Amino acid sequence: MLDWLLPQPCLACGLPAAGGLCPPCAAGLPWNDRACRRCALPLPSADDAALCGRCLRHPPPATASFVLLRYADPVDRWMAALKFSRRLACGELLSALMRQRLGAAPWIAGCAAHIPMPLHPGRLRERGFNQVTELLRPLQDALPEARPGWLQRLRPAPPQSGLDAAHRRRNLRGAFAADPAVRGRCLLLVDDVVTTGSTVNEAARCLLRAGAAEVRVLGWARAARGMR
Ligand SMILES: [Zn+2]
Ligand SMILES: [Zn+2]
Repeated sequence: MLDWLLPQPCLACGLPAAGGLCPPCAAGLPWNDRACRRCALPLPSADDAALCGRCLRHPPPATASFVLLRYADPVDRWMAALKFSRRLACGELLSALMRQRLGAAPWIAGCAAHIPMPLHPGRLRERGFNQVTELLRPLQDALPEARPGWLQRLRPAPPQSGLDAAHRRRNLRGAFAADPAVRGRCLLLVDDVVTTGSTVNEAARCLLRAGAAEVRVLGWARAARGMR
């Protein structure tokens, strides 16, 4: 009722809208529903069993991934607005969209805990918040318990753009440390944007080296490989 009385601008196009998005923008969201079930890479067509060529050749450390949307307009703008301008309305909308679609990843229920992708403490002080934690805040009741302390970032994220996969991986080596409590557990690693997958892969490898039984991935926006 209040939304109707005081329409807010649509977060995608700026026209008056109720509930964050106008109907045409809501209908045009770039859902990532045709994707590799292991790494969430967008695929031209897919069924539940689809794997991308790369996962067939070199299975990544995570066994399953669900990434809600493709990293395309307006999702890329919302992510930047949340991360760099702390525009919480964008985060709230992204959290609400995730809640609507969590049923597409029923394997989440099999995880013992979820771990937001950590920021380096220096980066966290600079920015004042971790955008992944913000996105997760309204979803705590829908996810296994949060264990943010189980993964730490030892080095800040280096600039990754323009680097090939081998360089990205080398850049990230030793970037994370996992708590011994992860041993034997199936964990849900959560990130906002999955670009090439090199960051989630390195974090997942670190958890597995510390004895985690399995790592699965939940994310908001998936870039086609090589973007950004
Ligand atoms: Zn709109
Ligand atoms: Zn894949």
